[in-house]
Amino acid sequence: MVAWKLKGCPRCGGDVFLDRDEENRWYEQCLQCGCFNELKDIAKTKEQLIGELGRMCQRITKLEAAEAETSR
Ligand SMILES: [Zn+2]
Repeated sequence: MVAWKLKGCPRCGGDVFLDRDEENRWYEQCLQCGCFNELKDIAKTKEQLIGELGRMCQRITKLEAAEAETSR
């Protein structure tokens, strides 16, 4: 999977793409200047996002339960 970050390059403001190398490490590279950046924190970021998603799902479930209560 490749993800794009438009104008995400810190050096030249060019378009950056995310990809994984053969050792499954994420990196981002700029198309314009070739600026290369290994993403060491991506596992941490992923955990944070999953945690955030879990909290959102709980909130939605609670809201749905409350809605079901009031519509009765
Ligand atoms: Zn660049």
